[in-house]
Amino acid sequence: MLLLATLIYVCYNFLKKEAMNMAFCKNCGAEVGNNQDVCLKCGVNLGQISKPTVVDNGGFGWGLLGFCIPLVGLILYLVWKQERPLSAKAAGVGALIGVIVNVVVGIIYGIIVAGLMTTL
Ligand SMILES: [Zn+2]
Repeated sequence: MLLLATLIYVCYNFLKKEAMNMAFCKNCGAEVGNNQDVCLKCGVNLGQISKPTVVDNGGFGWGLLGFCIPLVGLILYLVWKQERPLSAKAAGVGALIGVIVNVVVGIIYGIIVAGLMTTL
C-alpha cells in the first residue's frame, strides 16, 4: 500500500511538472516560465525558447507514467507512435511493465489471501 502511494505521488509530481512545461535558459540553464521573455538570472532574451518544439527524448518519466497508469501509457504510445517515437516507446514499455507487475502482484496477493483463508 505504501509502495502504491509512493508511485502515485511520483506520477503526480511528474505530471504536475509536465503540465507547467518549464523551460530552461539556453545561456545560464536557470528555470524560466513559459511566459517569460527574459531570463531573470542572466538577462538574456528568451524569445526563441518561449515556443518549445516537440520534445522526443524517450524520457524515463513517460515510462514511469505508463507504468503507473498502463492505460495512459498505451494511449500515449498510440498517439505518439509517428510524431514522437522515442517517447511513445518509453510510455509503451512502461505500460507493459506496469501491466506485468500488476498481474504478478495480483497473483501474489491472491496466494497470500488464499493462504490466510485456509489457515483460518
Ligand atoms: Zn539565463
